[in-house]
Amino acid sequence: MNDTGLHTPPTGNTDAAIEYLDVLIVGAGLSGIGAAWHLQENCPGKRYAILEGRDAMGGTWDLFRYPGIRSDSDMHTLGYMFKPWLAEKAIADGPSILSYINETAAENGIDKNIRYGHKVTKASWSTGAAAWTVEAERTDTGEIVRIRCNFLLMCAGYYSYEHGYTPEFKGRERFEGEVVHPQNWPHDLNCKDKKVVMIGSGATAVTLLPEIAKKAEHVVMLQRSPTYVVSHPDIDIIANFLRKILPEKLAYAITRFKNTRMQQFIYYRAQTRPESVKKQLIKWVRKELGPDYDVEKHFTPNYNPWDQRLCLVPNGDLFGAIRSGKASVVTDQIDTFTENGIKLVSGEELQADIIVTATGLDLVILGGMDLIVDDQPVDFPSTYTYKGMMFSDIPNMLSTFGYVNASWTLRADINAEYVCRLMNHMDETGYRQCTPRLRDEDHDMEARPLIDGFSSGYVQRVMHLLAKQGDREPWLNTQNYHRDKKSLKNDPIEDGVMVFSNESRAKRTAA
Ligand SMILES: Cc1cc2nc3c(=O)[nH]c(=O)nc-3n(C[C@H](O)[C@H](O)[C@H](O)COP(=O)(O)OP(=O)(O)OC[C@H]3O[C@@H](n4cnc5c(N)ncnc54)[C@H](O)[C@@H]3O)c2cc1C
Repeated sequence: MNDTGLHTPPTGNTDAAIEYLDVLIVGAGLSGIGAAWHLQENCPGKRYAILEGRDAMGGTWDLFRYPGIRSDSDMHTLGYMFKPWLAEKAIADGPSILSYINETAAENGIDKNIRYGHKVTKASWSTGAAAWTVEAERTDTGEIVRIRCNFLLMCAGYYSYEHGYTPEFKGRERFEGEVVHPQNWPHDLNCKDKKVVMIGSGATAVTLLPEIAKKAEHVVMLQRSPTYVVSHPDIDIIANFLRKILPEKLAYAITRFKNTRMQQFIYYRAQTRPESVKKQLIKWVRKELGPDYDVEKHFTPNYNPWDQRLCLVPNGDLFGAIRSGKASVVTDQIDTFTENGIKLVSGEELQADIIVTATGLDLVILGGMDLIVDDQPVDFPSTYTYKGMMFSDIPNMLSTFGYVNASWTLRADINAEYVCRLMNHMDETGYRQCTPRLRDEDHDMEARPLIDGFSSGYVQRVMHLLAKQGDREPWLNTQNYHRDKKSLKNDPIEDGVMVFSNESRAKRTAA
């Protein structure tokens, strides 16, 4: 036992049969492995485990197996702050990202702390015990496992691992070919010389199109409305040069700084001068596809740049596939599936042997688990985000949600760093509970959507289930990495909003 009483069941935990850990991390994806690294580095005395619902680590980068799966951010910012990305390609394929995560876990002994096949279904906070009781279902036996912990780090991602999102399509049962969702890509799917219609125009669709075009007779990307698509080289010449002349870590830090500043600048320009950014993006597409292509119809969205994520296509591969004649884009609406394909509202019919529904993800909040605080179910949408990672009136819990305008890991890293600082502060001051609480003057603040001004369908579909943000610090969910980085590193932990309570046994004894 240490002097805060955190290494053994805390006061109030009378059920000795339940295992007690200082910290539980839910999810062994990019965020969970990263959080474990920060914990080991900054809070070396804490005992922790990672509960992972699947039988492998890597999350997104293990689950998705469709051809061409890759990042659409550069790996110098999607990589961890503490582990340089050393590969030649900055826009990396899924297997390389998965290896990077596996390597991080193995190098640091994190893999030994992962408990696979543990799907967390419920977490209940008890103020009396200053602990969460976390329930997980073992996927092999169905057994319910209970573990207690003082701090809960939710790194469960943001979408359902069970299934992707597929809207209802009229006549779906009539279609005699195969219907495939990218989230459940059959490893033996043969597109060779087939006619493929792919529904959707997001990041997954633009990744898949050139890959399918390599084998299929023809592939159509069928979209209701266009998305901004921008071509970018998959290697970063400056990063690769810096790596040759500087130590790895320094070269990586400079590239990260360059890329985060660039991302921020582009986002800022898109917010302040949307018309000129829009014009430039469309001009680039026109240059790729030539004067005869109907860019207006197929590549000119009806929203402003960065109201939804920009779709990056490495080395213009999407445009190359279209120019080759093996791929095309149709902008229309589906009337019905037919025996042989899809009939559109315009009356046109698309013939298909295979239909790919690249229609997105089904979002899930907090890994789909039930959340209870002192016997009361938490009404999550009524809570306010605290610094974009904790929630009003929910003690000792962090939830990692990346930026919508920059790489996910940028935020995962700084959130994990902050929570370590917070836990160390609690140990030093002898408190076992920290709860963000609205101050008197915060009660009438304006409630805003957690993700402001972002119109993507997958976010809009769940907005009513998410926490809110307020109109002032620390209740804002900024989409500004540099601002967050500075404030999470330097702002005092005791800010008059985070309420510390539940003194440790050591503090009480001393008193
Ligand atoms: C195809 C695709 C491409 C993407 N490309 C990019 C990109 O280029 N740049 C970018 O910034 N973002 C990208 N993203 C977003 C991406 O998900 C994040 O970058 C990052 O991988 C998220 O990591 P994570 O660990 O937070 O979540 P995930 O990767 O989703 O991992 C969550 C883990 O938690 C586990 N889990 C979930 N619920 C439970 C539970 N109840 N109990 C136990 N375990 C649970 C899951 O099994 C999973 O292993 C992409 C997403 C997708 C789907």
